[in-house]
Amino acid sequence: MEDAICLDCLGLNETFNHLEKNLESMINYVKDLERYASIFDEEMFNKLLDNNYRKTPKILCSKCKNEIGYEDYFLRRESLVPFLNEVCKIIGEGVSRYIQFCSNCELIKEFNAFNKIIEVEKGQVSKDNGQSVLEFLYGFDIPEDYNKYVLPNLQCRCCGIGQDESVTIKFNESFLIYNDDDLTDYLSVDIDELSQYAEKYFINLKKIELTNFSSFLRNYPMLGMRHTAAEKLYELFTKMYEEGEFSIIENLKLYRGRTRNKGTEKFHSKQMWNPPIGVSSHGRYNLVGSSVLYLTDNMDYIPAEVNYIGSQELDVATLIINKPLKILDLSQMY
Ligand SMILES: [Zn+2]
Ligand SMILES: [Zn+2]
Repeated sequence: MEDAICLDCLGLNETFNHLEKNLESMINYVKDLERYASIFDEEMFNKLLDNNYRKTPKILCSKCKNEIGYEDYFLRRESLVPFLNEVCKIIGEGVSRYIQFCSNCELIKEFNAFNKIIEVEKGQVSKDNGQSVLEFLYGFDIPEDYNKYVLPNLQCRCCGIGQDESVTIKFNESFLIYNDDDLTDYLSVDIDELSQYAEKYFINLKKIELTNFSSFLRNYPMLGMRHTAAEKLYELFTKMYEEGEFSIIENLKLYRGRTRNKGTEKFHSKQMWNPPIGVSSHGRYNLVGSSVLYLTDNMDYIPAEVNYIGSQELDVATLIINKPLKILDLSQMY
């Protein structure tokens, strides 16, 4: 048989080891794989047996020239591509368990905007924590030739990209992959100073409570106020307000930016306020659809804040604070 390929020559043994699976048992178990695989069984044995019973039939792998064992699976060249398509679905699903976040996740977009602002603020270049999707696949010893079959089967556990049939956007080579470790600093809640504030008002805020709250919010943003930590924070901010524990800003210029496509008309000053309810995307402070006016006292932060890309126009409005404005300065509490 000229066109047989043994399972070892697919080069997927290491990958299946990583996934704690076995290719042979998978073929036996998954109909869509079995459909494209051949087996050296009795029927084939008899077919290959020549009429005179002169020699025992053998099938050699056309790549490594090793013998295909009796009762072993192998592939015919013509069914290789459909088989790889199916097997890469399984691999895609398996490695996707390790994709906690991707560059399409809102959380990651925020994280990157946050890093850009830190860069502008401190002049230090933040280390890029994401891993390129090809590097990620390489980590599972997936042969490079198979990337094109695996990529469309990847799914992000956070934003769900790749899972929903109706969403046509799929993973491609430009995607970055992140895990919890990359985000530890970003997501960790440093509560020492905050709890000192709280203690002043006899409110007992525990670190674990806030850490739980932070992950609760990521999963159930609309239910935030149901959480005990939210009740405590609400009580804390109310008391701080009552006790006059806030900053007052006045006679200050603040800025707000909006991007638009090149060649379009400049935004009118009326269009530079907070977006109408229902149109905003998810932001650092607001949920999708809720309306918040983001302002900065430093114009340099605007491009990062609005995810400006060079091919766009960027309009910046200046707002002047006329009446004293009471501000809860969170940076004082951290
Ligand atoms: Zn072989
Ligand atoms: Zn994602």
